[in-house]
Amino acid sequence: MVELQTVGDLVLLIDSHAHLDSPRYADDREAMLRRAFEAGVGAVLAIGIGEGPAEMHQALEICREFNGRTDGDGLPRGKARLPRLFASAGIYPHTTTEADDAALEKLDGLLAEPEVIACGEIGLDYYHEGAPHDVQRAGLIRQLEIAAARKRPILIHCRPKDGATDAWDDLFVVLDKHWRRTGLGGVMHCFGGGWDEARRSLDLGFLISFAGNLTYSKAQGLRDVAEQVPIDSLLVETDAPWLAPAPDRGKRNEPAFVARTAGVLAGVKGVTVEEIAAATTKNFSRLFRLGPIVGN
Ligand SMILES: [Zn+2]
Repeated sequence: MVELQTVGDLVLLIDSHAHLDSPRYADDREAMLRRAFEAGVGAVLAIGIGEGPAEMHQALEICREFNGRTDGDGLPRGKARLPRLFASAGIYPHTTTEADDAALEKLDGLLAEPEVIACGEIGLDYYHEGAPHDVQRAGLIRQLEIAAARKRPILIHCRPKDGATDAWDDLFVVLDKHWRRTGLGGVMHCFGGGWDEARRSLDLGFLISFAGNLTYSKAQGLRDVAEQVPIDSLLVETDAPWLAPAPDRGKRNEPAFVARTAGVLAGVKGVTVEEIAAATTKNFSRLFRLGPIVGN
C-alpha cells in the first residue's frame, strides 16, 4: 500500500505541520507552495485551527483550492508543480474557551471530509497565559471523542511551564484514559520534551515530529532525544509560519525549509537526508493510511 514517494530520483519530504492559512501567506501562497515542491516537499499537512473555531475550515479550503491545480490537465503525476495538500481541523488549547456545541459540531463535520486526515492541533499549553487548564483538558477530551468516532489520528500540541512537566503529565493521563484504546495514534507535533516524554509518546504508538528548533545551536538536548527516537517513529515539520530553522530563525518560515530540519535530523541519526525523507514519508503514510503521494 505504502510506496516510496519519488519524482525522478528525488525522494520527497512531507511537511507534517504547516499553517498554510496564515495571513502571512496572503500575497504569495502559490509561489510559496511552488518553492516547497522545488525544495523536494511532496506533501504538506495544512493545520486547521485558524485563530479559533470560526476559522477551522480554512485549511480544508486551501487544500481544495490547490489540489488538482497543475499546469494543465493530464500532466503525469511526477510533473505536478505543487505539493499534495492534506488538512487537519481542531481547536487549539487556548481557544478551547470557544469549544461550544456548535464548534464541536463543525469539527465533526470537517473530520468527515476525506482531505481532513487528522484532528489537531489539540492538546495542553501551560506555558502561555490563556484558557484555564481545566477548560483545556475538557476541550481536549471532547475532541478526542469526536476524532475517535471519525477514526482520525490526532496532532498534539503540548507545552509545559518552563522547567516543568505539568502539561505532559496531565496529557498522558488524558491520552491513557481516552485515546490509547482507539489504536489510532497520532503525532507529537513540534516535539520539545525530554527522553521520558518521547518514550511515553512512543509507547502510545505516536510519531514524534521535529521542527526547526531542532536546528538551533542551543538545542543539543533536543538533538540528543532525536538521536534516540527510532527512525520509523520520526516525522519532520515546519510549523510555518513560525519557528524558521537556522539561519533564518525569527523570519517567516515556509514548507520549503523543512529540508533543513531533515538535513539536521539526518546528521543526528547518522543517515542520509534521502533516508530521512523515505522514512518520514513512509511513517506519515502509515499513520494516515494513505496510498502513494506524489505532488499535487
Ligand atoms: Zn502549529
